[in-house]
Amino acid sequence: KIILGIESSCDETGVGIVRLGADGSLELLADEVSSSLEQHVRFGGVVPEVASRAHLEAMAPAMGRALETAGIGLPDVHSIAVTAGPGLAGALLVGVSAAKAYAAALDKPLYGVNHLAGHVAVDTLQHGPLPERCLALLVSGGHTQLLLVEGIASSITELGSTIDDAAGEAYDKVARVLDLPYPGGPPIDRLSAQGDPAAIAFPRGLTGQRDAKFDFSFSGLKTAVARWVEQRERAGEPVPVADVAASFQEAVVDVLTAKAVRAAREYEVDTLVISGGVAANSRLSALAAERCADAGITLRVPRPRLCTDNGAMIAALGAHLVAAGAKPSPLDLSANPALPVGTIQIA
Ligand code: ATP
Ligand code: MG
Ligand code: FE
Repeated sequence: KIILGIESSCDETGVGIVRLGADGSLELLADEVSSSLEQHVRFGGVVPEVASRAHLEAMAPAMGRALETAGIGLPDVHSIAVTAGPGLAGALLVGVSAAKAYAAALDKPLYGVNHLAGHVAVDTLQHGPLPERCLALLVSGGHTQLLLVEGIASSITELGSTIDDAAGEAYDKVARVLDLPYPGGPPIDRLSAQGDPAAIAFPRGLTGQRDAKFDFSFSGLKTAVARWVEQRERAGEPVPVADVAASFQEAVVDVLTAKAVRAAREYEVDTLVISGGVAANSRLSALAAERCADAGITLRVPRPRLCTDNGAMIAALGAHLVAAGAKPSPLDLSANPALPVGTIQIA
């Protein structure tokens, strides 16, 4: 069975194609992504109207390239999955409308799915089926969440999330303070390799005894970095950019990995999946590997290409729903920009 996945929640237009075997195995046949990132760089963040227009222009060509790469035609498609939320309203609408048009024209089942569940599901394309229960740490430009996954097609529970900035957002804002380009993750990651992560003791948000156990907070950290840099500049002293970057990064990944391991212990799961754009961070995966090994937890991190937004993750989630015998979504499906993470599929 061939499952088509369409993604348009933010600035990536993605069309992925996955083959679902009779034994439940998944094979990735195509993963076409077109990003409007360059159009947002000068604004220092994604501009919704610009993103929607870019999706409109990129959708049909991405579909064409994906079908060609997979070596299939539209009639070969068994079902169509699309990101129904969460995300930017106008951007989501382009993908949902396209998916509905394809589903109606081809008379194929349509699955409106959750983008966040897709970020977890994508790991099965690289590392095979997930265990019955696992923990997922989702870290991206818009999200920072700890999820208890008890069946990728049936049960996802949020254990905690950020109460202010997302982890990727913190990277982007700190990069701006340090005069580094947007998006800030990659340059901070690179610079940190030359800096001392223990140079400056930046605050670890929400790690006190009485703090919400599995929630995160990064806006205090961002402010602390800005203040520190400001003081240096006011004193006329040079800013040790690599040390600041490394110390900031250490504060972020320390909290992320500590809470993930603590949650794994408390919920007695032995597998942790880390996904989302920030999962590409070299220090995050290194520290997570170290701490998971110490705690006897199996760590799964999909390759960077699968961690950022793409259509393959949506096709993968769609395939899991088809395999589980889930009922398709109604054809009058609409996008839900605030879709809660527990809603894996819009029924
Ligand atoms: P979402 O998936 O939440 O809707 P998004 O599209 O912004 O939002 P992604 O594309 O998955 O999320 O990730 C982008 C974020 O990842 C940016 O904030 C970027 O700075 C960050 N990022 C990318 N590479 C790295 C890295 N090596 N280290 C840290 N952060 C990184
Ligand atoms: Mg993105
Ligand atoms: Fe995403």
